[in-house]
Amino acid sequence: MLQCTAVTQVPYAEALLALATMEGGPEHPPDAVEPEEFVLCELGDHDESAEHAGHLWTADTPDDQDLWLLWSGTGAHRVHRLDMLRLCPAVLRELATRTVTTCAFFDHHPGPHSFSVTDPLGDLIAAHVHGEVRRLVAEDDAAGAPDAPDVPD
Ligand SMILES: [Zn+2]
Ligand SMILES: [Zn+2]
Repeated sequence: MLQCTAVTQVPYAEALLALATMEGGPEHPPDAVEPEEFVLCELGDHDESAEHAGHLWTADTPDDQDLWLLWSGTGAHRVHRLDMLRLCPAVLRELATRTVTTCAFFDHHPGPHSFSVTDPLGDLIAAHVHGEVRRLVAEDDAAGAPDAPDVPD
């Protein structure tokens, strides 16, 4: 499943306040959030009935609670809240490779767990990089070819 593509601006003053008052928050909240910061919804693609969710801060507490920005709607119609949410307990165990991947979302999140969600932006960037590399290699080949005309007109 692909990742949701919703993006929104972090409400700066509210985020600062939440970071400053939360248990296990950053020592210096202004370092943790920028005035013009945007977050991507990290959930798997979902419909309007579920809120979008962007992770803001991992709390330094024993009971694993993170600060999330949850929102629905866009622009002037956006409704948002900042909330401390427990981690999703789901774990993906791959016996063959002996790897354990924990879900990066919050408990009772909508849709599939994070390990079932692929990031289209990351794939897009990877595809672009591969394309660039192919282009550079092709240019190198062309420059080294004896029949490449190098005559100014
Ligand atoms: Zn979303
Ligand atoms: Zn999960």
